[in-house]
Parts: sequence; C-alpha cells; structure tokens
Amino acid sequence: MTRWPERVDVRDVGPRDGLQNEAPVPIAARVGLIDALARTGLARIEAVSFVRADAIPAMAGAAEVMAAIERLPGVQYSALVPNPRGAQLALEADVDAIEVVVSASETHNRKNVRRSVADSIGGIAEITTLARSADDAVPVEGIISTAFGCPYEGDVAPERVAQLAGHLIDVGCTSVSFGDTTGMATPRRVHDLLDALEAARVDITTIGLHFHDTRGTALANVLTGLERRVVRFDASIGGLGGCPYAPGASGNAVTEDLVHMLHDMGIDTGVDLDALIDCARLAQKIVGRELPSAILRAGARTRTHPS
Ligand code: ZN
Repeated sequence: MTRWPERVDVRDVGPRDGLQNEAPVPIAARVGLIDALARTGLARIEAVSFVRADAIPAMAGAAEVMAAIERLPGVQYSALVPNPRGAQLALEADVDAIEVVVSASETHNRKNVRRSVADSIGGIAEITTLARSADDAVPVEGIISTAFGCPYEGDVAPERVAQLAGHLIDVGCTSVSFGDTTGMATPRRVHDLLDALEAARVDITTIGLHFHDTRGTALANVLTGLERRVVRFDASIGGLGGCPYAPGASGNAVTEDLVHMLHDMGIDTGVDLDALIDCARLAQKIVGRELPSAILRAGARTRTHPS
C-alpha cells in the first residue's frame, strides 16, 4: 500500500530564512554552507535575499554570494525578493528561481512591508513580468505567510488563503507555497487549509509547505501533508533561524530531522543524510551555538541509513 508519496522534494532554506534570523555571518561562511548543502543532493536551496542591507544586515552581499557559490548542475538556487528592484538584482545575479511573499493577514502584511495585501499582489505582478522577460524565463514562487494563523489577527480563514493562492497564480506565479510563519499550524489546520485549496481547485500535488517547529508540531504537520499527497517541503539545516517572535524558541523545521523521518518511511529525497548531518554541524559552527536539531543530538537511526 502506498500511503505516502514515493519521493519528496525538500528545499533547504537555511542560508536565507535561517541565517536572516541569526546574527550576520561572513559571506565566505554563507558560500561554504550553500556549497556543502548542494553536495548533499538537495535539489533546491534558498540561497539569498535581495533586500536592502540596512534593512536586513544578515542578508547583505547577495550578489557576491551568488557569484561565489559553485552552481552545481541540477540544483536550483533561489532568491527571495521584496520588490521589482530586488527582482532585477536577482536576475542580474543569475538566480534559478525567485520567491515573493505576501501575508494572508492584512495586519501582518501592513506591519511587515507597510503595504496592503492588494498592493503587494500588484508588486508581485511586476516581478513576474520581469522574471518572464529574462533570457530564460525564471520561475517565481509565491509564498503566503501566516497561512495557518497570525500573531495579530489569530486564526486566518483557510478560504482567504486559498483565494490569495488563486490571485498569485493569476498574476503569474509559477507555484505557491504556504508558510507557518509563527508556528501556529497543527494537523487540523493543515487539513483545513488543504480542504480549502481543493475546494478552490488548487492542485495540492504542486504546492509547497513551510512549517516552523515553534510549538513542536512541524513534523506532525509534514506527515499530514504527506498523507494528503503534498510532495514539497521547506526545512532549515540544523533548524537555523530561531523564531523572531519568541527568542529562544525553535524556528524552521529541521532539514536533517525531516530527511531522517522521510528515509525511514521509505520515501526517497535524493539527499545523503550523513552529508546533511555534516552540514548541520557546519551550520552550528557558523553561528557558534547549539541548534535545535534532534538528529545532531541523538544520531540517525533509519532503515535506509543505519548508523
Ligand atoms: Zn521559515
């Protein structure tokens, strides 16, 4: 019986989402981490963000990072961009994919980018136009943050999230993913959102899910997604990133914990778990603190990777 997908696509967001929420580290360390991640077999890495250096010092030097990394064939190196100017810079740096973010919560969007959701969608339309006009059209993923709940508004209606996903596709996004920005998702909320997406005729097998382990639910949420045939998940090496809303709390789902679980379930990821664990050690060294990785603490013990 195939209860779960046979293969899952894991994107590591540690170099961007993770390091963005850590104290700035040298560019050479960021390059080293990205190159090490690429060699594990990960097919997608969120590498950089083209934001103003004064706004987010930890992400300064995105073009330098993109120029210095190894660019292994078969690996998609993506950049998050906040606006058309950032998209232009990302295209000049020859990124393989662009990510844009809009919040499902009007309040969160305004607090985050001082724009309404409608204005954000307008900006995204400009970005997709730019990306399509690149020499080789560059895919643009629309990320909906606070998709499972908002720190200001509380619950976010799944129907609203599904409607927003439709808007993102309408303005040219080539894929959509859903972020649990504040770690509020539980399997019930995941089911509710996937139900709403199905009702809105969004193909669940194409979406991505991005969970945070702030309240210990990240892998339970992934399992719920798997049982609904979701095959794309984000995670961060070592669990880099923490949680900007709750100092000391866990942030992103941990890549090696996720891959370890998937491998023991017989799900192929194309990733070498041992090499990934080495990357987690490297990430820990880079930030100079212990990261919330269960596999780093306990060691791997899977059917496919006995160690
Ligand atoms: Zn995240």
